[in-house]
Amino acid sequence: MGRAFSHTSAGAPRAGPSPLTAPAFTAAFVVALALSLALQLWLARRHMTHVASHRDAVPPAFAERIPLPAHRKAADYTVARTRLHVAETLAETALLIALTLGGGLAALVGWTSSLPLGGLAQDLALIVAVAVLSGLVGLPFAYRQTFGIEARFGFNRTTRALWAADLVKGILVGAALGLPFAALVLWLMKAAGTLWWVWAWAFWIGFQFLLLALYPTVIAPLFNKFSPLPEGPARAAIEALLARCGFENRGLFVMDGSRRSSHGNAFFTGFGRAKRIVFFDTLLERLAPDEIEAVLAHELGHFRLKHVLKRMLWMAAFSLAFLALLAWLAASPWFYEGLGVPAAPERPGVALLLFFLALPVFTFVLAPLASLYSRRHEFEADAFAAKHASAGSLVRALVKMYEDNAATLTPDPLHSAFHDSHPPAAARIARLGAA
Ligand SMILES: [Zn+2]
Repeated sequence: MGRAFSHTSAGAPRAGPSPLTAPAFTAAFVVALALSLALQLWLARRHMTHVASHRDAVPPAFAERIPLPAHRKAADYTVARTRLHVAETLAETALLIALTLGGGLAALVGWTSSLPLGGLAQDLALIVAVAVLSGLVGLPFAYRQTFGIEARFGFNRTTRALWAADLVKGILVGAALGLPFAALVLWLMKAAGTLWWVWAWAFWIGFQFLLLALYPTVIAPLFNKFSPLPEGPARAAIEALLARCGFENRGLFVMDGSRRSSHGNAFFTGFGRAKRIVFFDTLLERLAPDEIEAVLAHELGHFRLKHVLKRMLWMAAFSLAFLALLAWLAASPWFYEGLGVPAAPERPGVALLLFFLALPVFTFVLAPLASLYSRRHEFEADAFAAKHASAGSLVRALVKMYEDNAATLTPDPLHSAFHDSHPPAAARIARLGAA
């Protein structure tokens, strides 16, 4: 190895030039960015065309359950949301190009280097600056989503004051949790040697558990009121189901989701002693007790079939692999220079930001695998609900939820295969019907 680089052995074979040069990486980044953007735009266009062309006929399987006006509303809502999402994707892509090849991040690195702060604080300032820019780009779209689309289709119940208060609270919570963790990772990158990424991974896993414990008890109550599920037929049905499935009841709560939106949902949160089952008040209003029981049985299925655990293990494995990749890239000058920033190994924040900016461009092609995995779990949870509650009740609940959320019954098959974490309604109901 050493001999190949030795000046004394002129005749020895030399290592060829590494293919990993800054211009080669720039080219790879530009090609991946163009392909992923083209793919996203093409899928969105297909989806909008497909939904619009099925707007005037309720699919036969739903003809008796969903009225035509509701079906048309779902189509228009889907098209409006997809169109806004396309605009947001374009804006995010423009920001990504401006920050990388456009020299934006290089300028911010220069500016933060001139601040009278320590290296770690300069890196934190850099991360905050990029977070602020990306937040500013996303803000108009979030506003249009709530006060444009959700309001036009009659779903929005939030006020501008509540929306702004949520935004400020979200930023404060994000900063309170995210900045100390970012500081820890930056410190590890500098001080923990070549295996810093293993330490960072261990802290990242710990941080995830901290969030899981804090979310139901500290974070979520900052935004919503949680009250115990009142006595009644729904509670009785739920408690019987939990007992039947051998699931220890650590708390059943109702969340005042109706303060912000008429969309309904139910979810599990936390782990261990902090574990809770939460129902949106909007869901409880709309569903009959047997339907609520079936929805909960589906969620219980995700736990019993270890979907939650499997997902966490995948997340842990992927984050370790990505951190190893980041460690390698952070030590490679072509990675910085290829993305428009002078190599800055003494500023670990630069590598961190470049990595998280550029990574989605290369991992976007993996999205359909994650969606496929998730949809398989949804079918399994449906089957669990059919066994432990009732398939008919779950079908009725799903039809109501699709109608209330104006979720389209006729997604473009390719768009759905790529993006949807849940199988299309028709596929779920067909399987439940066959159960
Ligand atoms: Zn599910």
